[in-house]
Amino acid sequence: MTKKTQGINTICTHAGELEDQQFKGAVSPLYMSTSYAFEDVEVKRYPRYFNTPNQQALAQKMAALEHGEAALIFGSGMAAVSTSLLAFLHKGDHVVLQKTLYGGTSNLVVEEFQKFGIEYSFTEDLSAEAFEKEIKDNTKVIYIETPSNPLLTITNLEAVSKLAKKHGLVSMIDNTFASPVNQNPIDFGIDVVIHSATKYMGGHSDILAGTVISSEEYVDKIFQLAKNFGGSLSDYTVWLLERSIKTMGIRVKAQNENAGKLAEFLQQHELVSKVYYPGLKAHPDHELAKKQMKGFGGMLSFELKELDAAVFMKYLKLIKPSMSLAGVESTILSPSKTSHGLLSPEERLAQGIKDGLLRFSVGIEEPEDLIADIEQALEETKKDMLDVRL
Ligand SMILES: *Cc1c(COP(=O)(O)O)cnc(C)c1O
Repeated sequence: MTKKTQGINTICTHAGELEDQQFKGAVSPLYMSTSYAFEDVEVKRYPRYFNTPNQQALAQKMAALEHGEAALIFGSGMAAVSTSLLAFLHKGDHVVLQKTLYGGTSNLVVEEFQKFGIEYSFTEDLSAEAFEKEIKDNTKVIYIETPSNPLLTITNLEAVSKLAKKHGLVSMIDNTFASPVNQNPIDFGIDVVIHSATKYMGGHSDILAGTVISSEEYVDKIFQLAKNFGGSLSDYTVWLLERSIKTMGIRVKAQNENAGKLAEFLQQHELVSKVYYPGLKAHPDHELAKKQMKGFGGMLSFELKELDAAVFMKYLKLIKPSMSLAGVESTILSPSKTSHGLLSPEERLAQGIKDGLLRFSVGIEEPEDLIADIEQALEETKKDMLDVRL
């Protein structure tokens, strides 16, 4: 299914662009119409049918970015996740899901699937054996996410796609953390690629959107459900997202580079006990990450040695505490207080999430400034702790 395409920055800038035939403007014109002529046209155009000029143009860009045949643009990442899963899962079917998943996806499965009569299993770990162990006669889909949130674990794309093919299953991935700049799962045989475009594709923390990329056949299957569920994205936001993606290649490469430098810095710091970043040689899946990723991404996590993570966060000046991720600005959050706050401490520990863990979304600022901010915040936190002890 993989098609040979142009380089990433060329695709980001040009793929799917609309021509302004009237005025010859440099950028794609925006068509806000929700109503189009129905006489003498083959396609009935309507935003909820995912086929307005701007929706189709951006879908072409998405398909080119992920080396797929076709794509759909959704109103959120979760609209893309839920519609894609439900397009392939009927009453009585079963899905195998990776153990560590984005919280919203786990909630969707645990809170909603029973209503639809869909069975599910989460794997014990991320090995091919763990996935195969959960496959049953009625399994239809394998769903993965790599690198994962917040511990940046790596799942073997090739092993999962082979397993899916062996058992006649559809393989799906949430590729949000990597972005299409760093990882193209279709090249490894994965069938359906999903992104929360709210993250690296939008990149400026001001757009909520999602996308799914696959073969013509599978995208049509997802579309048949999508038009009934109604999760399309308004054309104005589609247009803004197209604009954002033009710089995605250079943004993400800068974020990769910054994250690599920060991971090295944190790793050697005496007040930091552990760093989770697939680009580090010490990461247990560094070799696998090297094989399937073009860059290691802008997300990393770390644990502080004896220092209070909440106090440390208060002393940061440049790096802001924030729930979401992947913007051009660096942000940080404490998973135990936010994304995984509803779990009990035992459940969190079972997932490897300690209270001192911090998830860092590295932006495009100068790395020296980010390092200086972390250094001063660590010093202040250490002083605070000494003051308390005296
Ligand atoms: C944010 C996110 C989602 C959900 O996307 P929304 O745009 O918030 O609906 C799904 N998966 C991952 C990995 C995410 O980070």
